[in-house]
Amino acid sequence: MKLRDTQKQLLRTLPGVDTLLDALSAELPPHTVPRSVLIAAARDALEATRRAIFNDEEPTIDLASVITLAQARIETQMRPNLRPVVNGTGVVVHTNLGRSLLADAALERIMAVGNRYSNLEFNLSTGKRGLRYSAVEELICEITGADAAMVVNNNAGAVLLCLDTLVNGKEAIVSRGELVEIGGAFRIPDVMTKSGGILKEVGTTNRTHLRDYEEAITDETGLFLKVHTSNYSIVGFTAAVSVAELVALGTERNIPVMDDLGSGTFVNFGHYGLTAEPTVQQSVAAGADIVTFSGDKLLGGPQSGIIVGSKKQIEAIRKNPLTRALRIDKLTLAALEATLRLYRDEAEAVAKIPTLRMMTMSRDETEVQAKALIKTLSPLPVTTQTLALASRPGGGSLPLLELPSCCVGITLPGMGASALEKAMRKSHPPIIGRIENETYILDPRTLQEGDDSLIFEALSQIVEART
Ligand SMILES: *Cc1c(COP(=O)(O)O)cnc(C)c1O
Repeated sequence: MKLRDTQKQLLRTLPGVDTLLDALSAELPPHTVPRSVLIAAARDALEATRRAIFNDEEPTIDLASVITLAQARIETQMRPNLRPVVNGTGVVVHTNLGRSLLADAALERIMAVGNRYSNLEFNLSTGKRGLRYSAVEELICEITGADAAMVVNNNAGAVLLCLDTLVNGKEAIVSRGELVEIGGAFRIPDVMTKSGGILKEVGTTNRTHLRDYEEAITDETGLFLKVHTSNYSIVGFTAAVSVAELVALGTERNIPVMDDLGSGTFVNFGHYGLTAEPTVQQSVAAGADIVTFSGDKLLGGPQSGIIVGSKKQIEAIRKNPLTRALRIDKLTLAALEATLRLYRDEAEAVAKIPTLRMMTMSRDETEVQAKALIKTLSPLPVTTQTLALASRPGGGSLPLLELPSCCVGITLPGMGASALEKAMRKSHPPIIGRIENETYILDPRTLQEGDDSLIFEALSQIVEART
């Protein structure tokens, strides 16, 4: 390609890598950016500028503009990939945005054991090796009424581990209405196959009776499996068999019953004016041999899978070699223990566990927050309004439940809702909202302390960039 004289002239004025590096270093506090990042940014900026000259995109090139380009690259490189976002969607247990926020007490325990040795697997009374689950087993039993408990990495792992142990190549009888798929391709039939068990479907999609289970029993039956349909609901002409009924049949025929609750909760949401979700205590009281549930859905703790049940079954599960592959790490264990301790007093749990606090937030509280946000935004040239909408629990919990919320609609003159949504998402930190009826919406239910000023900052920048 033949370059014109003006282009050659521009290329000659480009700074060298060393000049650029010196200029960049001079602007940064010492040792804040690794030299490798500086060099890569300087090279990238020079290369991009050269390309702009070749393509006739940039009429004037000076050191300042190349420095600005390099600085933008350094900023991108130095920004953590996993970083906080503002959740204005109103979805409380938002799987894509990190599910549950940890209680302060949980964070304190992570800090306490994170940079110290701990008795993770060390019995301080005997001075011998201990069990990692002992930090939480008694607490879980105390809260749920179960005889024994253990924890793994997540509930998907708990289900796999339990099926692998309990079914062990035999048949597990499941209702056709409960063959759940969870997001991320976790499907009960596939997990069953992976565990080496054989799934025996009974009943129909909308109605399954006790006799369906009874008639399916053979010498090969190893388990009755109940799965809580946590992310969908079968309504209308329906019938399902309760855990208690299955336990009665199972006891008579010597078949254990497993109940996968998914979004396990220790709190009866019925007491807070919400749809009652089956509690772990209810399943245990009904006599289920094994109950599995998530630590970071409605429970509001760290990602984990909790298994409670009879001593005999938990003992067998602990001996399964898969346990090692699914084991919970110490930071999670520390956070889980702290979260569980809050459940000893339900009022404390509801006040201090962010997921429960947001779930039980009244419409009036959201209105107070909405008005405060509108006040914060009032100096900006944007139009705001309160809107009566609904938040969702999310995360595969309470699929039909809508939590009445007072939301804030934000409009920027001359900017469409989707352009605003995108600009907010690209802010630092990213602000994630939703669009309803062509209006950009932020739901105060999921906003945290300090988010109002972050929203103000982001909107100011967007307004500024357009003028
Ligand atoms: C969410 C869910 C799981 C998987 O739990 P994770 O904690 O996401 O691994 C399993 N079963 C049911 C019924 C669920 O709702």
